[in-house]
Amino acid sequence: MNLPSRLLALLVAVLPGVAAAAAVAIVDVTVLPMDSNRSLPHQTVLVEGDRIVQVGPVAEVKVPADARRISGKGRFLMPGLAEMHGHNPALGSTPEFVAQVYFLYVANGVTTVRSMLGYAGQIELRDQVRKGGMVGPTLYLAGPSFSGNGAAAVLTPQAAIDRVRAQQAEGWDLLKVHPGLKVEVYDAMAKTAKEVGIEFSGHVPAAVGLVHAIKAGQRTIDHLDGYIEHLKAQDAPVDAAKLKEIVAFTKETGTWVVPTMALWEAIIGSADADHVTNLPELKYLPKRMVDNWRTSYVKKVTAPNFNATQARQIAANRKVLLKALADADTRIMFGTDAPQIFSVPGFSIHRELKAMAEVGMSNYAILRSATKAVGDYYAGVDKFGTVAVGQRADLLLLEGDPLQSLDNVAKRAGVMVRGSWIAEEEIQRRLAQIAADSAK
Ligand SMILES: [Zn+2]
Repeated sequence: MNLPSRLLALLVAVLPGVAAAAAVAIVDVTVLPMDSNRSLPHQTVLVEGDRIVQVGPVAEVKVPADARRISGKGRFLMPGLAEMHGHNPALGSTPEFVAQVYFLYVANGVTTVRSMLGYAGQIELRDQVRKGGMVGPTLYLAGPSFSGNGAAAVLTPQAAIDRVRAQQAEGWDLLKVHPGLKVEVYDAMAKTAKEVGIEFSGHVPAAVGLVHAIKAGQRTIDHLDGYIEHLKAQDAPVDAAKLKEIVAFTKETGTWVVPTMALWEAIIGSADADHVTNLPELKYLPKRMVDNWRTSYVKKVTAPNFNATQARQIAANRKVLLKALADADTRIMFGTDAPQIFSVPGFSIHRELKAMAEVGMSNYAILRSATKAVGDYYAGVDKFGTVAVGQRADLLLLEGDPLQSLDNVAKRAGVMVRGSWIAEEEIQRRLAQIAADSAK
């Protein structure tokens, strides 16, 4: 069997309870539509297939007799969350591991993942998930990297043109920009991407620089890449005037950023080693993978040439930068780069929520970056990211109000992904299995 059909067989075997029902009603719930900072008490939300078909006061929504009813009493219903810089498991992963990673996302309410590095087989997985053949977030896929480094480097403008056309024809959703591209190669990629109608997003190659990338139309700047370099703020506080200027430029060009604040602390070495190497959720990934992360992180931050002062300065400056971007109401989307060093798929969102709150963003702005903002970004592709009629039925049912406390995002009653309901007991049962498998 090929990979997708092996996965299907596996998932049907382990998850008998998640097939899409005819209709599901979440009854008497407080809805956080996320179209603005408001909540609507005593609502019923009716779902048919993969769509929300009715939202209204309990007394006004007629629930079909054969619909499955889920109690929303005392609970809060928000749109499912998006991981806008996530990944599929590495090439060569077993189908079992792919299924586990997809489940870890969904288990934490992550119902959309923009997967930021393509390899053969992912398009089939994406389509299989979409057709309802397996449990997983809706995937949007970047193709194989446009990088200036490594065996598959793109070294000439013609190579870039050919690769853009090939990836567009193969059906990738976007192009992934990586470091090391020469300016003329980047420009050829950008020009061809516009011609064929595919976006390019990701890193900012050093030779290109932030302003050039934004002017060329790069749609998302991930990890806030290029900003600290542009501000020359590696070793000193951010210059206020320069910051104001680049924030205004980001805003006026409509450029999106995907900050990945928690992840970046682990990349640059400013994260507390004791904390990140002992995160409880690390038990959901294979022990060997986690041990490698632990060893390499400790090695990095204890190396004689490691510049801890600089790492802390950069981390502090990134917070100032994100606060300024948020205050200017620029387009911010939520991402954690899972599964990547210490970012456990799905679970990593809780660290990122905290990291964004530490910057001083409001709970509403943070949650919007993972819901409504993502829906806006994908307008024209599909409808999701708010609780409203016609939206994809990706929903997160919580025991507490996440607008009051972001900790409530972890207090789930269940998750709905494309209309399929997974109750918290089912989530916990499967998580326990994954933890047991990962310890082997
Ligand atoms: Zn990444």
